[in-house]
Amino acid sequence: MPPKYFQFIKPTKNSNDCNFSLIFALKYTNKRGSSTLLKIRYMTHELYMRKALEEASLAEEEGEIPVGAIVVCKGKIIARAHNQTERLNDVTGHVEVVAITMAAAALGGKYLNECTLYVTLEPCTMCAGAMAWAQLGELVYGASDSQRGFSRLSPAVLHPRTKITSGILEPECSEPVKRFFQKRR
Ligand SMILES: [Zn+2]
Repeated sequence: MPPKYFQFIKPTKNSNDCNFSLIFALKYTNKRGSSTLLKIRYMTHELYMRKALEEASLAEEEGEIPVGAIVVCKGKIIARAHNQTERLNDVTGHVEVVAITMAAAALGGKYLNECTLYVTLEPCTMCAGAMAWAQLGELVYGASDSQRGFSRLSPAVLHPRTKITSGILEPECSEPVKRFFQKRR
């Protein structure tokens, strides 16, 4: 068997640490056995949150509360969603619930323990409960919601193994929501 000079490194769960997630890396090993990383591509939490913000602006265009979300699994975006409560005439049409349903359909399984859900606004208790049922691997949110956010009302609702990161692009994420409610007043 010839030695493996080029090795494709796939992301592992731990590669989501340090505020970035690895997409892929290519490792080259020479004949003496020393190796170098040739190519690394990674996405930061900020870059993924910008994708969720794109969804939030779609919601705004449709007259929905401007909150957007994406679900990432092993470096791949498997769901993009925005609020649909007006369109569906359904109070449970929160972006996180829509995103969880889409992600489960994309994976063909109901558990999202290898997924990261990015959402522009802190989830409410209902959505955090849905994340617990889905055994979500990681939750990353932008703006806090001091009124309806789960962290104040029911901080223990998430699955104990779900990693939580907050405050990513906080000003950009809270701006559209503030603007939405100012217009309504
Ligand atoms: Zn919610």
